[in-house]
Amino acid sequence: PVKGFFNLNLVIEDTVRFVERPASLQQIEITTALDPALPQVWGDADLIKQVILNLLVNAQQAIEGKGNIKVASRLYPGMASDKPGVDTLPMVEISVTDTGCGIPPANLERIFDPFFTSKEVGKGTGLGLSVSYGIVKAHGGKINVESVVGEGTTFYVLLPITSPFD
Ligand code: ADP
Ligand code: MG
Repeated sequence: PVKGFFNLNLVIEDTVRFVERPASLQQIEITTALDPALPQVWGDADLIKQVILNLLVNAQQAIEGKGNIKVASRLYPGMASDKPGVDTLPMVEISVTDTGCGIPPANLERIFDPFFTSKEVGKGTGLGLSVSYGIVKAHGGKINVESVVGEGTTFYVLLPITSPFD
């Protein structure tokens, strides 16, 4: 794994391209709303790609029949910093919104646990979100979720623009 500054919008576009064909076969439309002024982000581009891919596959699997998935990026006002003398860290936010089945409140607190899955045997390992959580934490970021059963789900990934660890 190699860390460095990378273009997050390009990583998002690459990942979307990867799932576009199977999604369109399933009558799922994927749209992007990427902030062209997004700064480069520090981290491991391949690991962040894996996070976005996990979120896209989950979104796709949550949709039965027609639906859509929206992927957005934007500059985020900043998150409180633990570093002395630094108030807030500038962050970028990636969001993945789907019109899928939603997540029942009782499951919301378990979805990041390793091996938690609501999918039938063979369809899910229950590792995607726990691995993603670990990757985002290792970048000093955060992952949040909002979901309404029967309407859909949005996952938010917040990443600091520069590493908060040095
Ligand atoms: P898996 O996809 O193998 O089940 P994940 O860790 O990726 O494992 O996700 C864990 C669980 O979280 C899923 O089984 C599902 O219940 C729920 N989940 C994750 N993303 C979504 C989503 N976009 N819509 C609805 N449920 C979701
Ligand atoms: Mg998954």
